[in-house]
Amino acid sequence: MDEISKRTFLAAGLAATLPLSARAAEPGRKLGYAILGLGYYATKIIMPRFAECEHSKLVALVSGTPEKLKTFGEQYGVPESHRYSYETFDKIADNPDVDIVYVITPNSLHRVFTERAAKAGKHVMCEKPMATTSADAEAMIAACKKAGRKLMIGYRSRFQAHNIEAIKLIREGAIGPVRAISADAGFTIGDPTQWRLDKARSGGGSLMDIGIYSLNAARYLTGEEPVAINAFTSTDHSDVRFKTVEDIVSFQLLFPSGATANCYSAYSANFNRYRATGPKGFVDLDPATNYEGQSMRVRLNGQTSSREPAPQAKNQFSAQLDHLSECILTGREPIVPGEEGLKDMRLIEAIYRAAREGRTIKV
Ligand code: NDP
Repeated sequence: MDEISKRTFLAAGLAATLPLSARAAEPGRKLGYAILGLGYYATKIIMPRFAECEHSKLVALVSGTPEKLKTFGEQYGVPESHRYSYETFDKIADNPDVDIVYVITPNSLHRVFTERAAKAGKHVMCEKPMATTSADAEAMIAACKKAGRKLMIGYRSRFQAHNIEAIKLIREGAIGPVRAISADAGFTIGDPTQWRLDKARSGGGSLMDIGIYSLNAARYLTGEEPVAINAFTSTDHSDVRFKTVEDIVSFQLLFPSGATANCYSAYSANFNRYRATGPKGFVDLDPATNYEGQSMRVRLNGQTSSREPAPQAKNQFSAQLDHLSECILTGREPIVPGEEGLKDMRLIEAIYRAAREGRTIKV
């Protein structure tokens, strides 16, 4: 064995025996992700984006479908030793290549898999909505804290160039203090048998799934937390899609500065946009939080124009994946930790309550 191979061999042997935190700190090491739940978002959107990551790589798969483990395992070079079923998942604790488990299942399973991942000593990335109740979200935060592991929620828009630019312009005072936000997010949902339309698995309808983008945007654009909420819903329960979940939610938020937000969430209308307006102008994104194609218009100094932010080094998905890896490597907290997901869960509950009780809810 030559000197270089010997050193590589020794380093590999040493690495396998190091605790996770020490291994994560190895310079230049990409952190290993296990993707849990091989559905649409995982396989079509997230998994291909590891190719552009600097600090993250795909090393393991967890699925309830053996054919998916085989197909995607072969496609991404994930060996059989790094493929898990939901039954064998806890054995991931013995796999030092896995630093992070990314939970991309139906919402009602986010809690149980986050807790199992934390118990196995892994950091967790969990998709939005973080859970189906705020109590579950609290339990997830507690589980990760107890295990000494980080928890981040997949709020990818916080890593998207136009959204970053919108926040920057507002924080710099370009439009003056935000007075009014409108934020609309919706799509026309199809297949009535899917889990999104089954409250037991989704936790709720459009608000949990897509309206959460309007809610989250109103919060990151103002940089404030709402103090009062009004809401009403509109659902045709004779429509086979809406037997257990809501279709439209219209909600209003009042922020401490006096800024207000008027938001829509829908499963029967297509929109994806927001506008923040102040005394000096506005920032408008349409689409705002799609996977791609964001378009920005601003009104500043009396002029309305298109604006293209400086290109980001990475797309929003790779940047999101790398952010958690970098936080683990440097000991920082993610900009969208579990607590951020919990805030949205509490507000979603308050929005449902405002609609149910037909009154303003103070939060
Ligand atoms: P899919 O239905 O396409 O995939 C979910 C996967 O979860 C399934 O393919 C299955 O994978 C696994 N699963 C485990 N248990 C169940 C169960 N009881 N019923 C159904 N599936 C199960 O959903 P999406 O990929 O669209 O959504 C998954 C999560 O990602 C949701 O929380 C959603 O809100 C979020 N999401 C986030 C997006 C974003 O832009 N941030 C975009 C889209 C979704 P397997 O066969 O491998 O077990």
